[in-house]
Amino acid sequence: MRRAWKRAGLVLLAGLALVCGAVVVQSQRHPPLDPYRSLTLPEAPSGAAVRVRFAGTTTLLFEDGETAWMTDGFFSRPSFPAVALGRIAPDPAAIDSGLKRLDVTRLAAVVPVHSHYDHAMDAPLVAQRTGALLIGSGSTLNVGRGLGLGEDRLREVRPGDSVTLGRFTLRFVASRHSPTPFTDGTTVETIDAPLVPPARFNAWREGQCWSLLVEHAAGGRWLVQGSAGFIPGALSGQHADTVFLGVGTLGKKDTAYRTAYWNEVVKAVGARRVIPIHWDAFWVPLDQPLVAMPLLGDDFETTMHDLQARATRDGVEVRMAPTFTRFVP
Ligand SMILES: [Zn+2]
Repeated sequence: MRRAWKRAGLVLLAGLALVCGAVVVQSQRHPPLDPYRSLTLPEAPSGAAVRVRFAGTTTLLFEDGETAWMTDGFFSRPSFPAVALGRIAPDPAAIDSGLKRLDVTRLAAVVPVHSHYDHAMDAPLVAQRTGALLIGSGSTLNVGRGLGLGEDRLREVRPGDSVTLGRFTLRFVASRHSPTPFTDGTTVETIDAPLVPPARFNAWREGQCWSLLVEHAAGGRWLVQGSAGFIPGALSGQHADTVFLGVGTLGKKDTAYRTAYWNEVVKAVGARRVIPIHWDAFWVPLDQPLVAMPLLGDDFETTMHDLQARATRDGVEVRMAPTFTRFVP
């Protein structure tokens, strides 16, 4: 009897070791980016009416020569152990360096796509350094208050609201987060008091997730879909030429989910171009090249394979954004 228990214990231990080993291996394996280099958009010619720059995750700088504004402004990218075990806070040096690489000194606004730390944590510092308004849900505004941003610099938006920034118009459509182990995609947790960092990563609760429709007076419509979630029908009747498509965790979803996401976001707005965003491991600092999310949490190869097949079928092109370089969206 005792021998049987001992054997069961050994089998259990061996199983546990195997699982731990697999987790460690998969957390180090990043799908290659080389197969997609040829999809990278070229540098914008001078004179292009609207240019965009990408700085990893879902940080996008839009500019037209008069007005510049950005989504998220996330540059700190705290390390994986810091996020998993410690308390995190914006890194002023990383933020300054990121803004410098984007040639940003003045911004009209910084607009987090929702309030998780990898979208909203740095936004108040970006706003302080650039004179920008922090625009977002009540949760996002509490991230701003926690870092001392005055009420005159906060602008709350509700689903259906539009905001004009120079010749840009931003329309805020309610969306959902991609279902993950931390967020089921439907229950929305909010930040109900000023959030003072350092704090555990999950203190930056989701808040409202946005589909951000961007229009420019000189022509051009774009959709920024920060998270790979959707509300059925929410974007029907809207139009965008290009979708900045949040693909985080999409590689681990089933075909039915990916079909619904494509239909509800890309097809719903009649887009002709898709630029994946939120595909990089967002704890790798920006002074290193972006790498795809490790296979433990996502599968970028599967995502790209799937997107390219759908795109070919529907007459859409999939392009990659260069990092920190101006491109025409
Ligand atoms: Zn999120």
